[in-house]
Amino acid sequence: MPLVTTAELISDAQRAGRAVGAFNVITLEHAEAIAAGAEEAGAPAILQISENAVKFHGGSLAPIAAAAAAVARVSSAQLSLHLDHVVSEDLLRAAHPEGFSSVMFDASKLTYGDNVKATAAAVRWGHERGIYVEAELGKVGGKEGEKPLDAHAPGVRTDPAEAAAYVAETGVDALAVAVGSSHAMTERTATLDHDLIGRLRDAVPVPLVLHGSSGVPDTEIAAAVASGMRKINVGTALNTAFTGAVREWLTANPAAVDPRKYTAPGRDAMAGTVSRFLRVLGS
Ligand SMILES: [Zn+2]
Repeated sequence: MPLVTTAELISDAQRAGRAVGAFNVITLEHAEAIAAGAEEAGAPAILQISENAVKFHGGSLAPIAAAAAAVARVSSAQLSLHLDHVVSEDLLRAAHPEGFSSVMFDASKLTYGDNVKATAAAVRWGHERGIYVEAELGKVGGKEGEKPLDAHAPGVRTDPAEAAAYVAETGVDALAVAVGSSHAMTERTATLDHDLIGRLRDAVPVPLVLHGSSGVPDTEIAAAVASGMRKINVGTALNTAFTGAVREWLTANPAAVDPRKYTAPGRDAMAGTVSRFLRVLGS
């Protein structure tokens, strides 16, 4: 079906007390697996392409974006396209023509004041084009020599009052918060601060986003959704599934050379991971 917008997927999820799964696309097979997993779970999903994935494709956004959009169009699942962790202003401005309905603008490396300024400008740019803008905020320091704005740094937590001020000052549509998860975890051992999630939900008027969900167990994710998380980002878990299946196949078939033979089990493993996550989010 045609691409849907991230804004409508998140507002549908909000009304239903669910969360939307957002999965990172690196290769065409990731996009195909996300669509297959969403179809299997009977749930919508967000195909997200990060700035790092664009760098992997030689800095060109168009080919992988066009491929992901084409996968969405031939799928029976509701899928939207999201540009993730954008630092480059040039990449931000490239987003619109490729069918992206949302962008996560990442100014977390800047000081609080500069983060607010850059994010507010990104929001103005996005809203003029109907693009939904997500940003992130960790613990606000703002003092000299202190740089804890990154919501992904281990141990960092988002302060509810500062998050509310940040949303008011920037006008963002959704906010990624630091509540105990961190990126690139290959073991699912993270525990979340559920009391903090509840306080953030009460203080912040926009939907909350959980990054680094690959390292969070199902029970913790389900509880986070019940406390008000509305977008759950998953990247590493897909790669763990893909690489594990490919490695197993190649170990069993060391003389094989046809990439279709070993990529297929990798893609199937990712689809299984996607549908499993989506079931947790809808419970
Ligand atoms: Zn992230």
